[in-house]
Amino acid sequence: MYVDSHCHLSFPDLAGRIDEIRAAMAAAQVDRALCICTTLEEFERVHALAMRYDNFWCSAGVHPDEADVREPTLDDLLALAARPKVVAIGETGLDYYRLNGRSVAEMAWQRERFRVHIRAARRSGLPLVIHTRSASDDTLAILREEGATPGPAPAATGVFHCFTETESVARAALDLGFYISFSGILTFKAAQDLRDVAAFVPLERLLIETDSPYLAPVPHRGKTNTPANVPFVAAQVAALKGVPVEAVAAATSANFERLFKPTPPLKSK
Ligand SMILES: [Zn+2]
Ligand SMILES: [Zn+2]
Repeated sequence: MYVDSHCHLSFPDLAGRIDEIRAAMAAAQVDRALCICTTLEEFERVHALAMRYDNFWCSAGVHPDEADVREPTLDDLLALAARPKVVAIGETGLDYYRLNGRSVAEMAWQRERFRVHIRAARRSGLPLVIHTRSASDDTLAILREEGATPGPAPAATGVFHCFTETESVARAALDLGFYISFSGILTFKAAQDLRDVAAFVPLERLLIETDSPYLAPVPHRGKTNTPANVPFVAAQVAALKGVPVEAVAAATSANFERLFKPTPPLKSK
């Protein structure tokens, strides 16, 4: 049984196809998924999925690429974090890849938003789902400052999702106690550097995801992605580690439970 630790089932490409997607998941032995929130405006739709289906959970947060949306306050995030089946804060982080003519200095709002999410994670005790692109130095620096400074709340934990950074960034994230999640990019022909990073990340700290509807793995590259494709990511990890795919399925499922503590516990079907 596999877990998709990051998907966007409320996005237009997928929202009208939930029954079909769930049937495909069942056929592919993908028994759980974490539905990721990207704006406050989207939250209720993402949360409704988690409330409707036993084996879906959701996050609460505002994506760094969303510039013209309602800015979340700490209280906004804490209120959503307290709702049932919300198991993570995010996705949040920094993205300097899509600057669109802006300078990094002009992205102060992104860094402040990230700090608010980290504070919400520490206060709520929920893990962070971190998106970082072309911004790993600032992401790690802010995480060390906000996430690990001594204080009444325990240090932040979480996952670096859709990881595309170097081995040294992976090492730094692992040192901070974070997990690393790999998407279908791992199966792309040109992604040998990333496969080397995945080979380095210990199986006990590794998650798998689809980031649906994006990034469909080979052999479905270019098509609309769904959680049913997460076994292709697992198979790639298994090949890199030289272990059976069942071992990757079991380890990544156990990691998902350890990090997100999804409730109610999975009912056997
Ligand atoms: Zn992301
Ligand atoms: Zn995402």
